[in-house]
Amino acid sequence: MIKRLNRDDYHRWASQVRNTGGCRQPIHLRGKVEHYDRATGALLHRYTTRTEPDGVLRVPCKTRRASRCQACAETYRADTYQLIRAGLIGGKGVPETVTAHPTLFVTLTAPSFGTVHARREHSGKVKPCHARRNADTCPHGRVMSCTERHHADDPRLGEPLCPDCYDYTGSVLFNALAPLLWKRFADSLRRALAKAGGLPLKDLPCHLRLSFAKVAEYQRRGVVHFHAVIRLDGPDGPVTPPPAWAAVGALTGAVQHAARAISATAPAHEGQPARNLRWGTQLDIRPITLDGDLTEQAVAGYIAKYATKAAECVGTLDRRIHSTDTLDAFNLRDHARRLITTCLRLGALPELAELRLAEWAHMLGFRGHFSTRSRRYSTTLGELRAARERFVRTEEVTHGRPPLFEEDTVLVVSEWEYAGKGHSLGDALLAAALTGTSLSTPQQSAGSCP
Ligand SMILES: [Zn+2]
Ligand SMILES: [Zn+2]
Ligand SMILES: [Zn+2]
Repeated sequence: MIKRLNRDDYHRWASQVRNTGGCRQPIHLRGKVEHYDRATGALLHRYTTRTEPDGVLRVPCKTRRASRCQACAETYRADTYQLIRAGLIGGKGVPETVTAHPTLFVTLTAPSFGTVHARREHSGKVKPCHARRNADTCPHGRVMSCTERHHADDPRLGEPLCPDCYDYTGSVLFNALAPLLWKRFADSLRRALAKAGGLPLKDLPCHLRLSFAKVAEYQRRGVVHFHAVIRLDGPDGPVTPPPAWAAVGALTGAVQHAARAISATAPAHEGQPARNLRWGTQLDIRPITLDGDLTEQAVAGYIAKYATKAAECVGTLDRRIHSTDTLDAFNLRDHARRLITTCLRLGALPELAELRLAEWAHMLGFRGHFSTRSRRYSTTLGELRAARERFVRTEEVTHGRPPLFEEDTVLVVSEWEYAGKGHSLGDALLAAALTGTSLSTPQQSAGSCP
């Protein structure tokens, strides 16, 4: 810290750090940008990192994961919020008439893989976890009852009453097949809507489009479920209304049908037969309204929040696990450890090779995208970023950085190379003080998650 503070270029370094918005692990770039006049070939402007502190430019890491960089994840969260909201009420290029399109907020859950500790509330009072008067004793000698009123931070929440009875295989297979289940659900939804409109499936796009935005959330027990905004548009997306028959009622019926109708099969392995996995019985379907119980702000906030989280909520790791890693070093709770070792064990079986469970063990088997949208849902993250970068570029002119030229009269030659990542400990302390961000890593415990 003292060394950095005493350097002549401290102020320039501090300005770079401020421009990264408090990114905890900025990328270091070495290189140059040159602007030439296309007509004369004259050099109009040159920017090089050679004169920057340490000869590098620091740029934000742009991660989505709050466990890696809170500042960049916050940007991602805010962008996601804006684009989900635009898909509900218009804005950012989406017409306001979209509010009249039938739109549902749907939660598709995972089935049960065994009884887990749970916090139940009834009219504001916490109820006992699993109070059973004449509870059975499982083959491992554990009584299948828990009378505790668990605190919201209790690390046992989501953990099985008997880990030896718990279906760890089912849990990781479900995670591995969840993206396929979602795809089949969306296909089945289209078929059900075509049927409701009396149309052959191939004609559906001429009348109706299904737009959605979805996010995967890890439940504490370590399985994913999906929250999705599902909206009906006309043939040209949000700018056209859907046909009159495609109302909220028809969409609700189609969702109910599709959620029950589909399944995905895990191949037979280790002497066990092939296994059919489907969504859990808990299916939540709620219409989104501007003034009702479930408003567009609530939905956009909810989806955006989960878009920056991953499996670390369950107490697992936020990076790939290598075969050379010893899990002992990570101080995992037994439940997370069993989920990971199940992935590693099943991942080694040739019958299940295509599920790539070992590679995705840190995600407890899930290898899908956390946050996805259909093409015509609303604006894209890329467009939002580009808009922000245009703004930043305008700002930079006032700070003596590359000026704005008319794009077609100027030739831009740039050369960049990766020159590292992150801060030294002293720099990190100064950066946190400069940007008012926190230095600490969010705790990898169940308690830190909603
Ligand atoms: Zn960052
Ligand atoms: Zn309990
Ligand atoms: Zn048991």
